[in-house]
Amino acid sequence: MPHPNTAPPPALPFAAAFGAAELPATMAMAARARALRDAGHPVINLCLGEPDFAPAPHILDAADHAARNGATKYPPVNGTPALRDAIARKCLRDHNMVVAPTDIVVGNGARQVIFGALMATLDPGTNIIVPAPYWNAYPLIARAAGATTQFVECTTQNDFLPAPDAIDAAISPQTRWLVLNFPNNPTGAVCPADHLAAIGAVLRRHPHVRIMADDMYEHLIHDGTPHVTIAQICPDLAPRTLTISGVSKTYAMTGFRVGFAAGPADLIAAITRVQGLATGGVCAIAQAASVAALDGPQDQVDIMRQTYASRATLVASHLNTVPGLICPSPRGAFYAFVNVTTWLGRTSAAGAPLTTDTAIATALLDENHLATVAGTAFGAPGHLRLSTAAATSDLVEACRRIARFAAGLS
Ligand code: PLP
Repeated sequence: MPHPNTAPPPALPFAAAFGAAELPATMAMAARARALRDAGHPVINLCLGEPDFAPAPHILDAADHAARNGATKYPPVNGTPALRDAIARKCLRDHNMVVAPTDIVVGNGARQVIFGALMATLDPGTNIIVPAPYWNAYPLIARAAGATTQFVECTTQNDFLPAPDAIDAAISPQTRWLVLNFPNNPTGAVCPADHLAAIGAVLRRHPHVRIMADDMYEHLIHDGTPHVTIAQICPDLAPRTLTISGVSKTYAMTGFRVGFAAGPADLIAAITRVQGLATGGVCAIAQAASVAALDGPQDQVDIMRQTYASRATLVASHLNTVPGLICPSPRGAFYAFVNVTTWLGRTSAAGAPLTTDTAIATALLDENHLATVAGTAFGAPGHLRLSTAAATSDLVEACRRIARFAAGLS
């Protein structure tokens, strides 16, 4: 029987901190790309930051073994002892940092660790400092916690590194965190030890500010240089630093949803409390697989890193020949961040006015079936981000489509 009240339901409110539940730009573009592909168009999707490799066989074997041998119960909220021990070994191996397994938390991806850290420490009226361009989750989560974000602009001229005096100028009594993300999403910037030391010198003057070192892409530095992190370079700052990483990018394990952080005990306890409220512990099978990833052979990591590096060189060299484009060679991660400002104000072959980078990304998808994300989503209008974690043949074809798009501009 039809319901007697046929009037449409009233729009019910959303919490102000979340806005009207809008989709982040990356996901919105990916959804548009999927719709076009479903309609039969030959779309190349370079929106998402997701490795195109499978995890190494020993990692999958460990997941299988765990599932068949009892890893099917609720795990501890802060992570299994076996994984926290493996992470402590990793901290020592990679950064010579001695971390107690009790000062480590495992989350459903690094994303949940970041969410927990910001939720546990931000109040309305406080702020975080984020160098721009940035991964868009930090300001969105800060907003969800009722806080605001102060951006520190970085440019190609300084290799997309935040100037220490600009960080100094941005810090106020309300500042709770400085976020450092190297190698950076979206620019691929890598921060050398002396630059981290200079940032550390600024932070020593501001003891009320915590430091979030988001090292998700730490093993994806193209020339193989070992990654350095601020708690390693400035050990005196370690008591207020949260060092974050995970298995998603390094081991091609995005779907396992395992990220982790090392930091001061009180902060780790607070993050654990937020996680306990939201999700409880992380899938025990995924944690067992992550132990195998961290403790097992690392040769596949090297192969992936070299592949991403050669793709980055290929894409940058192709795009720099396209009139009007500037594509600095990324030093790490797996993105190309292309400056398209000379296209602003022009018109696409199909007549779309290219007033913003979002208009450019939309026209490129609609007319040439190439999905990218507009730099505005990363706090850098006038750019496009292309994921280079895609088959080389797709990347070559993507560059061709961009060249065709450029040739059709008027
Ligand atoms: N940090 C950065 C800079 C990222 O780019 C991402 C994912 O794109 C994450 C953290 C979150 O990774 P995950 O939640 O898969 O561990």
